[in-house]
Amino acid sequence: MHIDILTLFPEMFHGVMESSILKKAKEKEQFSYQLVDFRNYSTHKHKKVDDYPYGGGAGMVLTPQPVFDAVGAVKKESRPRVVLLCPQGETYTQRKAEELAKEDHLIFICGHYEGYDERIREHLVTDEISIGDYVLTGGELGAMVIIDSVVRLLPEVLGNEESAQQDSFSTGLLEHPHYTRPSDFRGLKVPDVLLSGNHANIEAWRRKESLKRTVQRRPDLLENHELSEADKKILREIKND
Ligand code: SAM
Repeated sequence: MHIDILTLFPEMFHGVMESSILKKAKEKEQFSYQLVDFRNYSTHKHKKVDDYPYGGGAGMVLTPQPVFDAVGAVKKESRPRVVLLCPQGETYTQRKAEELAKEDHLIFICGHYEGYDERIREHLVTDEISIGDYVLTGGELGAMVIIDSVVRLLPEVLGNEESAQQDSFSTGLLEHPHYTRPSDFRGLKVPDVLLSGNHANIEAWRRKESLKRTVQRRPDLLENHELSEADKKILREIKND
């Protein structure tokens, strides 16, 4: 996968892109990225990228020319996914991360100021994504959130393939709790079943805890989740408890 990030603040990305899993994945050539300061594509004599909104009102609007030309310059194939970071876009989810992880080429457009010229939205982008119902100063943090969640799904990026498959949301449920050594920390004990060595019982406990956690914290996730008969039985037990 190759990722082009169109931004006016490329320096914001260095810490995130050059740390942890993203750094390792880049070094192993599991993905590559390029930071593109789209101001460099402005044909304005002072490299301006924004202007006053037609019709008046507060704030500045990103002009279409630098963004169209920067996207045109980085397009290597006919149909890359062009993602516009935008509080009005579809809310980002793990499903969307899985969908984007199948692509060979992603282009992210990070906005700033009041917003974009609408023609960018209408004629250039394939996806408009919001990372939540709040307003950020710019699209950079959103792009980093999406890139991190997508790259960790690429083949062999995580050491243990299973750890992504078991993550919260990947299964459609929240993940079960985790414990590690010591088994007794200042009187706080690890559930006996996890020390039992009985894998079937451990799996059953994890499934129940995962369902319990989802019911308690995110019951909305269960509405779209296909439950097995065994899960339905466990849910009845949880309700009775
Ligand atoms: N006036 C815009 C509106 O009400 O929809 C908000 C503009 S915001 C100050 C500037 C930029 O930050 C946006 O163009 C977008 O790129 C980014 N941004 C802000 N909130 C975001 C969110 N929740 N998700 C993704 N990007 C966001």
